[in-house]
Amino acid sequence: MTQVLVLNKHFIPVSLTSWKRAIKLLFLGRADVVDEEYRTYDFKDWFELSQMIKENPAGFIYTAKFKIAVPEIISLKFYDKIQFEEPQLTRRNVYEHYGYRCCYCGKKFTTEKLNIDHIIPRSRGGKTEWDNIVTSCISCNFKKANRTPQEAGMKLVISPSKPQRRIKLALVFNTNIRIPSSWQKFIDHIYWDTELEK
Ligand SMILES: [Zn+2]
Repeated sequence: MTQVLVLNKHFIPVSLTSWKRAIKLLFLGRADVVDEEYRTYDFKDWFELSQMIKENPAGFIYTAKFKIAVPEIISLKFYDKIQFEEPQLTRRNVYEHYGYRCCYCGKKFTTEKLNIDHIIPRSRGGKTEWDNIVTSCISCNFKKANRTPQEAGMKLVISPSKPQRRIKLALVFNTNIRIPSSWQKFIDHIYWDTELEK
């Protein structure tokens, strides 16, 4: 059964559907077909194109009178919801957020030479939240010890901040489905950013 990738109005993948439902949505004017070059086709355009082309990666549906190419990607014309998610406070996200720099001296380090620092130490009630967490190199960390920056006479050259919210990727691909090459540019970020299945 051919799966069709469903994008929202902003070309962000939202789900997978069957070719039957994809064609139905197209026919009802609720979706357009999208090709690899980001061109869109409404039902009429797609129908006409289907009569002209001889090959289509996902094949054709034939009736007695006409054929219609099975789309690989459709976009929903009226669905523009984007779900955002707060970035998780993980070591990796923190390091990446601060560009692998120590927020006290501003220099860049490899991960082994960086630490997570609570600006207000945990022992003093400092929370593990984005606005109280920065990266620090081992020597700055040592110098600061269990004190606030003021007490240690240190200044943050990079202020704590929270990363941008990210688009929530609801789609998780089952590893045994065949992923058409046309989907690639729409799902690349999903491949890299989806939480791995347990
Ligand atoms: Zn440092």
